[in-house]
This record gives sequence, C-alpha cells and structure tokens, in this order.
Amino acid sequence: MSKSEGKEGLSENQNDDKWRNELSDEAYEITRKAGTEAAFTGKYWDTKTPGIYQCVCCAAELFESDTKYDSGSGWPSFYAPIKQEVLATKTDGTRGMQRTEVLCATCDAHLGHVFPDGPQPTGLRFCMNSASLNLVASEE
Ligand SMILES: [Zn+2]
Repeated sequence: MSKSEGKEGLSENQNDDKWRNELSDEAYEITRKAGTEAAFTGKYWDTKTPGIYQCVCCAAELFESDTKYDSGSGWPSFYAPIKQEVLATKTDGTRGMQRTEVLCATCDAHLGHVFPDGPQPTGLRFCMNSASLNLVASEE
C-alpha cells in the first residue's frame, strides 16, 4: 500500500483530476464547479429528438425527451425526471436568490436548478445545462 497522499482518500466522485481529464472544459466547469452555460448557447436547449438524456459524467439516465418542453428560457427544460431517485436537490442561496440546485444523485454533478413554474402534471421546471447532459437518441 502506498502512503496516503493527496487523492488516495477521495472517492471516485470527489476526484477532481479524474473529471478534469474525462470531461470537456465546459462540462467540467458546469458539472463540477456549478457553472451555468449562457442561455440559447447549449446544444440541447431547442432539441426535440426523442431519446434519453443521461448525466454527462456518469451516464445515469436522468430525463426522457417526452418530458422536455419549450420553456422559452434558452436552457433544456423538463417537467419531470425519469425517476425521482436519479436527482438530488439542495438549497442554493447564491446570487441573492433562493434557488434549488439539481444534482445527479449518482455522481453529484451539478445539472441546473428546479423552479416551481413548470407545466402540469408536476408544476416543476427542471432547468438544465446542455453541457451536463448527453442525449442518447432512441432508435426509430
Ligand atoms: Zn452523474
């Protein structure tokens, strides 16, 4: 066994070097540093392709295209996750706003925020960053 130094005690998800190596700069900044892409710039804000949106970090299945809707925000928006358990939330008081941050429950990736102004049946708007997601198109 090597002497514990630096990264040895960290779990995979906390290993910053691992993510820095595996992710694009943009995806790293958003998912691991809670960044936000500019509205209308992400690759999925206007996407209507049927499929499953996975976590860009760990490939957990997060959203189905069926629940994606046009919120007009410029970010991909969904009214429900694929399953409640795939997401984790925490209160985010930064930028002078009381918001609810949405994270991947599997790997703690920052995904975006959830707001209570979405359409029925949930009334929720999961406002995600395209860079946090990877769309796997369903086969027709
Ligand atoms: Zn993940």
